[in-house]
Amino acid sequence: MQDRVFDNPNVTVHFNTETVDIVSNTKGQMSGILIRKIDTGEESVLEAKGLFYGIGHSPNSELLKGQVKLDQSGYILVEEGTAKTSVVGVFAAGDVQDHEWRQAVTAAGSGCIAALSVERYLVSNNLLIEFHQPKTDEVKKELTDRDVHEGFDISLTKHKGQYALRKLYHESPRLICVLYTSPTCGPCRTLKPILSKVIDEFDQNVHFVEIDIEEDQEVAAAAGIMGTPCVQFFKNKEMLKTVSGVKMKREYREFIESNK
Ligand SMILES: Cc1cc2nc3c(=O)[nH]c(=O)nc-3n(C[C@H](O)[C@H](O)[C@H](O)COP(=O)(O)OP(=O)(O)OC[C@H]3O[C@@H](n4cnc5c(N)ncnc54)[C@H](O)[C@@H]3O)c2cc1C
Repeated sequence: MQDRVFDNPNVTVHFNTETVDIVSNTKGQMSGILIRKIDTGEESVLEAKGLFYGIGHSPNSELLKGQVKLDQSGYILVEEGTAKTSVVGVFAAGDVQDHEWRQAVTAAGSGCIAALSVERYLVSNNLLIEFHQPKTDEVKKELTDRDVHEGFDISLTKHKGQYALRKLYHESPRLICVLYTSPTCGPCRTLKPILSKVIDEFDQNVHFVEIDIEEDQEVAAAAGIMGTPCVQFFKNKEMLKTVSGVKMKREYREFIESNK
């Protein structure tokens, strides 16, 4: 490696020299390096637009000495093809265990192996403790005037608006059919009576809620509604099916029949 450096005409080697500081120009850009001769203490500025550190060949593994097995150069010894060190439950990854390749991608790959090895080790030794996020209270939305004025009766089959939908979603054991509409949607006007008739056939076994996605934007966004008309079926706080557009009456009927 030395010979290759000396033979390269683009490289000047500064022996016995240390880097003291980086020098900048009036624009705040790097313009050189302040260097110091170790033997004489003489300082000078070497013009340069960039500084690139070489880390040398000694792995920074001092703290591991006497704790896990290292090779003669100080690299952590791992079982070939694994991240296992000489100590059970201690895994190594990256340059500190790789005297050959020492590249970002190989370090990252071995990091992945080590991370998964740790997880397996913890699971197989019953040491894995799952962390659960604390439960947060559901955001309570103020009732709109419309919600209040319309009132709400859980025994009724047909409803309108997000307040009714939230109540039914949490409190009703029935299948809930939600029709998302918007004021300018022509097909919605076609679908509404079709669906209404099907619902009448299953009265007391289903709920029907109409949501105007412009009026109740929040609930429509939460349901992931991208267009109207759209029908969603819920039961036991679970979304069972989404049907976009206008379908044959039979399709809604069959689904309600098998899920009521
Ligand atoms: C000048 C140079 C150029 C390079 N160019 C490329 C390239 O072009 N392409 C490429 O793929 N690779 C390149 N590499 C190699 C690449 O950077 C390394 O392979 C990679 O960063 C190794 O990742 P690592 O996580 O194993 O170690 P590092 O990135 O060295 O991370 C080790 C970390 O541990 C910290 N640390 C050390 N001791 C302790 C301690 N006792 N306590 C807590 N923290 C500690 C260090 O501060 C450091 O943050 C280059 C390396 C250098 C030095």
